[in-house]
Formats: sequence, C-alpha cells, structure tokens
Amino acid sequence: MKLVSFEAAGRVATGVLLGDAVMDVKIAAAAAGETLQADTMIDIIASGAPALAALKRLAGGCGRWPQSLLPLANVRLLAPIPKLVRNVFCVGRNYLDHVKEGFAAVNADLKLPEAPQFFTKATHALNGPTGDIRLDPGLTRLLDYEVELAVVIGAGGRDIPQERAYEHVFGYAVCNDITARDLQKRHEQFFKGKSLDTSFPFGPCIVDAEEIGDPATLELSLSVNGEERQRARASLMIFDIPTIIASLSAGLTLEPGDIIATGTPAGVGYAMTPRRRLADGDLIVAAIDRIGELRNKVVRVG
Ligand code: MN
Repeated sequence: MKLVSFEAAGRVATGVLLGDAVMDVKIAAAAAGETLQADTMIDIIASGAPALAALKRLAGGCGRWPQSLLPLANVRLLAPIPKLVRNVFCVGRNYLDHVKEGFAAVNADLKLPEAPQFFTKATHALNGPTGDIRLDPGLTRLLDYEVELAVVIGAGGRDIPQERAYEHVFGYAVCNDITARDLQKRHEQFFKGKSLDTSFPFGPCIVDAEEIGDPATLELSLSVNGEERQRARASLMIFDIPTIIASLSAGLTLEPGDIIATGTPAGVGYAMTPRRRLADGDLIVAAIDRIGELRNKVVRVG
C-alpha cells in the first residue's frame, strides 16, 4: 500500500493512493465503521500491523464509500510525515562508487568506512514531493543532490539485533539529501550543510515493508532537467539496512516514524568533471521503482 499525507480544501489528511485517486482514510473509516486512529501518519505507523490491516480492508471496499475517493489531481501531496519531531538520521558514504568519486574529486586516496558514517538533518529541512528547494546564492555556491532510499521505522527499540531489524521497518520512501557542499566543508561537521530549509524532499508516499519485500531489489535514479545523473540498485549499499539499524540503535532508542536516509550512489554533481552545481530553475526528479518520484524545482531566493 502507498500511504500519503495530503492537503485538500485547506485540510491535511492521511490517505491511500489507489491509481489516480486518493482514499481519504478518515472518511472511509467513518463510512465503514472502522475504529482506526489515523489522523496523522504517525498514528498509522505507531499502530503498525492492525492499522495496515484496517487500511487494506478500507481500500478493498473503497467502491462502497465513494465519498472517500478524491482525484489525485485535486489534492496536494505533502511529505508523508508532514511534521518531523526528530532529526532525520542519515548514512554517508554507503555506496562504493560514491565513496570512490568523493575521494577522486579531492585527489585523495580511497579509504572505505569501517562503520556506518552517521549524521543528521534538522527537522525543518523537511520538504514535500513537489516543494521548491531554496537556493540562496549569498549563502551557498555549491548546492547538490543525493537520491536515497529512506527507511521509516515502525516499532521503536534500542539494541536491535541485525536479524530482527526488518521487524522494526514500517516502510520505505524516496528522499533527496540536498547538500550545500561548501557549507558541509566549511563547518567540518555535515550538519549545517545538510540542514538548510527545504533540503529534505521526502515522499511521495510510504510503501509498507510487506509490499516492498526485499528492499535490496529497489532501483534508485535521479535526473536534473531530464539528464540522468544517478542510477543504482539498493543492493550496492556497503552497509545494508539490518547493519545500519543494528549499528544506529546500539544504545540509542529509535522511535516510530524515525527516518533513516541510507546513503546515495555515484553521480553527485560535485564529483563530476567539470563540477556541476544546482541552479535556479533546475528540476530534480528523484525516483525509486515501486515507490514513486519526487519532482522538486530549485528556486533562487535573496
Ligand atoms: Mn546523503
């Protein structure tokens, strides 16, 4: 199932994507007499399997409550979790070809990470699947993109062993880890260069883990103005999802709705020859098969 948050007629609601329609969960549940706490996506994620089972029943019977179906064209999709309460957890240097291009770009010898490289993005970096990405030329001269598979945590936990990691995954989404490379370098820690407002396009939906099955089979891609820059399978991760979850949750409690951006494959702008940077008006399309795509335009401010 593809779960979304959307805005229609000034109201924010949760929904299920059904082809070119969105089923409004609250309206469907009321019509069907389902007692389902689904005011927000976090409600659904925190409930987990019972909520997903109820949503499947509602989607299966949607012909009986047509008043819950809205044409997709009439709604605005938001980030599927429209407000974050915790920073986004991110993994750097997690695809070999991206590690190689990064060291080559600064003429340094290749050094592979021995443990996942964790950093975070601030909550206010969150952006929707079609929101504009701010580019302030007085602040950064090197804005860049990174398509990544986002893991959404379902059941929280600490010290999660690798073999139980998938039990804690609610679902998957697409994200774009927009990065101001010059700020990333200047401030040494990644946080500032990764956390500018609008620099975390996320969505367009969360697909539940059962529907995805093995996430290693997913293919990520990204284009800028129609020119393909990135394409790779998630199977090429250096640290796979169970390793990431086990390592991150060691002594650190993960909570329902936490997001982990699992790293980007090769093809980022700063490693290209000549170096490429995002510019005013650029359209970035970040996609993962069986999930969907983000279409965000870069808009100059200031
Ligand atoms: Mn990244």
